[in-house]
Amino acid sequence: MKILLKKNLGREDLRGLPGALARVLPGCKVSRVPGGLCVSSVSPSRAGNALPLVENLPGVAAVSLTDAELCPLACARGPKVFSKPLDFTSRGKVFIAGPCAVEDEESYLASALALKAAGAHALRAAIFKPRSSPYAFQGIGWAGLKIIAKAKKLTGLPLATEATDTRQVERLAGVCDVLQIGARNMRNYELLKEAAAAGRVVLLKRGMRATLREWLLSAEYLLKHGARKLILCERGDSVNAPGQPLLNLELMAAAKKITGLPVLADPSHASKDRLVAAALALKALKAGADGLLMEASLDPLSALVDGRQTVTIETFRAIAGEQCKPRT
Ligand code: PEP
Ligand code: MN
Repeated sequence: MKILLKKNLGREDLRGLPGALARVLPGCKVSRVPGGLCVSSVSPSRAGNALPLVENLPGVAAVSLTDAELCPLACARGPKVFSKPLDFTSRGKVFIAGPCAVEDEESYLASALALKAAGAHALRAAIFKPRSSPYAFQGIGWAGLKIIAKAKKLTGLPLATEATDTRQVERLAGVCDVLQIGARNMRNYELLKEAAAAGRVVLLKRGMRATLREWLLSAEYLLKHGARKLILCERGDSVNAPGQPLLNLELMAAAKKITGLPVLADPSHASKDRLVAAALALKALKAGADGLLMEASLDPLSALVDGRQTVTIETFRAIAGEQCKPRT
């Protein structure tokens, strides 16, 4: 913890500060650094609880914590990749593909089989859709559970399904292999806790316009509450202003470097356009993404949601095929 001191600090304040710090953080070590103090030997929960008190001590201008102090589990060094149910240990890229949402059994199973043949390693299997408009298609709900279970049996592929509510987690975890936390729910801390404890892989999307630190903190929630296998996914900020990058590839690379976690890119929701999505997918893979979460189906033109950004099976096959060559 770094404490920035106020300028022109009176002697009294300066003299009283170590004692005041020892009262709010018993056992901490305090040393002088340029412009302030460095406080060490404090656990993350003690630091978190004491922070508002430290900020109010006389003479303190600001208090800051490093990523490693705030998110010790997410930032811990050491291997965090895994081989089941998705293989992030080999040198190949990992592709989770499927329509935005499951709409009906026939079309979903047909797309699932075609995607497997085209190189998918797991299926997007969304039955609940968090839509910005309450009038838009919300997903087929629990009626879709038996459809995705059938797709899993038919293809042998693991399922990645978004949980939009804590009450869905347990039942989804009975069938699905990866629980997806969508961008809108990155900051839904009760959902993070529930998903973390479900014993499944959790895929955490970066919230729209969320900072690296906010993303890391959400990952920390998952790790602290029991998630053993975690995947991050960069999906852009949905700004789409001219000149604005669609995916934040720098932030994606930084998250991968700091956490050591596998990181996917979602070029579909980032671009909202299937032609752009295909090019963006390759760009993200080149920039170090460990794979893609991509909307792809047999019939994007009749999709009830996000058809415009859903690529055809042929395009998906070309992207996956391009990446079959080992990473350099
Ligand atoms: C999705 O992947 O189905 C989705 C809703 O994406 P996001 O949460 O990134 O908007
Ligand atoms: Mn979608």
